[in-house]
Amino acid sequence: SLSDRLGGVFDRLRGRGALTEADVRAAMREVRVALLEADVALPVAREFVEKATEKAIGQNVLRSVTPGQQVVKIVSDALVEMLGSDAVELELGVTPPAVIMMVGLQGSGKTTTTAKIAKRLAAGQANFGQAGRERKKVLMASLDVNRPNAQEQLATLGTQIDVATLPIVQGQQPVDIARRAMQAAKLQGYDVLMLDTAGRLHVDQALMDEMKAVADVANPAEILLVVDSLTGQDAVNVAQNFSDQVPLTGIVLTRMDGDARGGAALSMRAVTGKPIKFAGTGEKLDALEAFHPERVAGRILGMGDVVSLVERAAESIQQEDAERMAAKMAKGQFDMNDLRAQLAQMQRMGGLGALAGMIPGMKKAQGAVASVGGEKVLVHMDAMIGSMTIKERNKPELINAKRKIRIAKGSGTTVQEVNKLLKMHLEMSTAMKKIKKMGGMKGMMAMLG
Ligand code: GDP
Ligand code: MG
Repeated sequence: SLSDRLGGVFDRLRGRGALTEADVRAAMREVRVALLEADVALPVAREFVEKATEKAIGQNVLRSVTPGQQVVKIVSDALVEMLGSDAVELELGVTPPAVIMMVGLQGSGKTTTTAKIAKRLAAGQANFGQAGRERKKVLMASLDVNRPNAQEQLATLGTQIDVATLPIVQGQQPVDIARRAMQAAKLQGYDVLMLDTAGRLHVDQALMDEMKAVADVANPAEILLVVDSLTGQDAVNVAQNFSDQVPLTGIVLTRMDGDARGGAALSMRAVTGKPIKFAGTGEKLDALEAFHPERVAGRILGMGDVVSLVERAAESIQQEDAERMAAKMAKGQFDMNDLRAQLAQMQRMGGLGALAGMIPGMKKAQGAVASVGGEKVLVHMDAMIGSMTIKERNKPELINAKRKIRIAKGSGTTVQEVNKLLKMHLEMSTAMKKIKKMGGMKGMMAMLG
């Protein structure tokens, strides 16, 4: 795997220090090979490696990871960033009918995906992670007059998912079907009109002209390019051609259930600059998911082991944070700013800070937080510290009864809650002092291994 290869590259480099340019360049040659093996198109791989190299050079090597692991983490983060970090929703906020036009090569999965999206929209769940969306009244129309029975295929799917399809009129051309579909959708009050277009085995100009003419007539809110994720080096050409000729709004990657290595996703994204809005994960009509950049990045970098590796690397970064804070505490300092940082970390990690497991006071604090309601309490505590003056944060013993009332008011909490927070802080700083007596955090960490 990539991490093994990088291990070789970095065997000479041990311990601390910055990643040197020569080492990073050597590592990036391996990364480039891994990208090409994952079917990332050559120009895209080249550009990506340039960017990642810039990011990596000069970064400090963390004590707890090898340089190879660290490069993997940098590359993985850069991949996720390039793939698009957030799930992007369909933009249907136009005067109805909102038209969604599906384009792509023959066999890429346009018709299937049309039905998958229609099914979600009709059920009120087109956009992921948001429950209780409005159900849409959806009409589907096939403009595929090339492939025999293509229109019937869509009608059959429509029956399966209980979504209306435009009645078939033999002999009509795509643009005329699009016009008829628009008219029907307007007259019959449809919210969404899905236009499933014809594909070709290869990109050709007649196909592109047809797409353009249909887009002119239908003025789509979304034009989604459907791409088979098994597409290799050709992905760039496909993306470039479609992207040049029709104003794409997003990409759907199909067959992500197969053994695609994810390269097409990166190529598509790099060439079009458009978000990947959905991933098709099977032939069934509910096999449609939000796109997960982390998973695809993992596949590209050489699959599962890298994911866990990166996770371990990230843990080590937390460890560095913890050590930095421990050094501060070893001097007997633990003010409200430190507490706030710890609370934020607890929140980030779902209630378990890196430091929490090591420090008796912190464990207690964690228990306290959990017992009074977890997450919400963390938010309240953060608000209370936010309502303190800088002086109060640095020197919590200044906080008298009058100040407590002010802090409670300012944070929308109660004096009782402020008291709890102060008590927690006191307990923790007492624990810190004990640790100091025991020989400091260093001694303690050594003891814990
Ligand atoms: P079109 O020519 O672009 O309209 O492609 P179709 O929608 O007709 O799909 C072609 C074939 O790919 C069909 O057999 C589909 O069932 C299959 N297919 C589409 N999407 C997926 C997917 O995400 N995963 C898998 N495994 N098969 C898919
Ligand atoms: Mg089709």
